[in-house]
Amino acid sequence: MSGFPYAEQFGINRTLPEEGVDKDVVLSMLSSMSLAEDPVWESGQCSGTMYCGDHDHYDYLNLAFSYFSYVNSLQRDMCPSATKFEAEIIAMTLDLLGARNLTDTTPAGLITSGGSNSIAHAVLAYREHHPTAGRANMIKPETAHPAFSKAGHLFGVDMKIAPVDPDTTQVDLEWVKANIDAHTVALIGSAGNYGYGTIDPISELGALALEHDIGLHVDGCLGGFILPFGRELGYEIEPFDFSVPGVTTISADTHKYGYALKGTSVLCFADKALRNDQYFYLTDWSGGKYCSPGMDGSRSGGLLAATWAAMVHLGRSGYRHYAEKIFATSSAMQAAIREHPSLRIMGKPTFLFSFTSDEFDIYLVNDFLRTRGWRMNGQQYPNAIHMAVTRPQTLPGVVERWSVDLADAVAYAATHKDEAAKSGAIYGGVAGGPSEESDALIKFFMADMMDKQSAVPPL
Ligand SMILES: *Cc1c(COP(=O)(O)O)cnc(C)c1O
Repeated sequence: MSGFPYAEQFGINRTLPEEGVDKDVVLSMLSSMSLAEDPVWESGQCSGTMYCGDHDHYDYLNLAFSYFSYVNSLQRDMCPSATKFEAEIIAMTLDLLGARNLTDTTPAGLITSGGSNSIAHAVLAYREHHPTAGRANMIKPETAHPAFSKAGHLFGVDMKIAPVDPDTTQVDLEWVKANIDAHTVALIGSAGNYGYGTIDPISELGALALEHDIGLHVDGCLGGFILPFGRELGYEIEPFDFSVPGVTTISADTHKYGYALKGTSVLCFADKALRNDQYFYLTDWSGGKYCSPGMDGSRSGGLLAATWAAMVHLGRSGYRHYAEKIFATSSAMQAAIREHPSLRIMGKPTFLFSFTSDEFDIYLVNDFLRTRGWRMNGQQYPNAIHMAVTRPQTLPGVVERWSVDLADAVAYAATHKDEAAKSGAIYGGVAGGPSEESDALIKFFMADMMDKQSAVPPL
């Protein structure tokens, strides 16, 4: 049946069923699909994406969600609880990210639906806050997340792409310095970046931003809720938060290492004025006076409640405890890589490490690891693969399995080094294909992949 998911078991809905299906039947279909899919990551062999992976914690968050799942937090007069949740999530995140160091400004925040959305709001805020005669631009390290380029595309802000040092994978500061112009509204640094888990020189970027009176966004989407605890635990991590002069916004994803449900992120502002410049108002609409703090209209009260519930339940000690295990696991997995002289770790990684090989295509290693159930993320220029270590990797036995499977994968790559690898680099996906294909052809395949993800079911 054309490979449409679960068609054999549950048929296909092409129209609304005339008579509704019994709740029991619907719930049993849902539970069976969920049970079939969870083992993919429960093994601890899947990079990133399932940051918590603890079913008890998920049950708790789902219960918290259920009390407010039907509430629209835009209608605040009906749900003062949402103000408590939102304000406290922001306050706790600001505190975690060093906002107590900000004595001359009024720190503030915005809760968004995810990292890309936090980044988009930051780009919009900088554009609105620093009016320029022509098109505004920002300087983005090549390693920074695509969400910056997407936001630039949406809001008409150019991204000047700064190269990174191939050894450290950190942004080239001289390039940044030389390319700030009259239209530059902000600089960008990652803590850490998605590809390598490395951290840009935030203090130096902050000094440049101050010198030119422009903003500095630190992308802590990934690191925001784990790096502060890594520092507390004594890992060598340079300051990257509001303790660094010049940092004006930080994005930190509650739906990653914040261990909340999918669908929330926090955008922190050193100063309220920057946030408020992207507030939206329509005061003369016939439907009433309208305003919204960000791009969303209606927002789920349930997600606010669940995010708040995750944070206050875990507390600093809970986050620190998980960070300790994650950092230790990442170190152990990196040690296994260093056992192999043919492998090379990129830069100075943290909870996320990336490695390549100068002797063979690293995607051969990936090909083999896949056969053992590992789901790594792929990179290019140079080809590399990474693992964002999450709680599932900290389960007993995973590091040991990694060492064994990696050794076998290296042996496989060495003997197959003259063959083409099957896997390749697509963010968030696993589709392969040789990287020499033309840009247009690659986009054609990518469009096809996206089309299929929401294609109307076949007849
Ligand atoms: C995940 C991630 C983002 C984007 O976040 P989404 O929640 O996927 O929209 C941005 N930056 C970094 C470093 C990330 O890891």
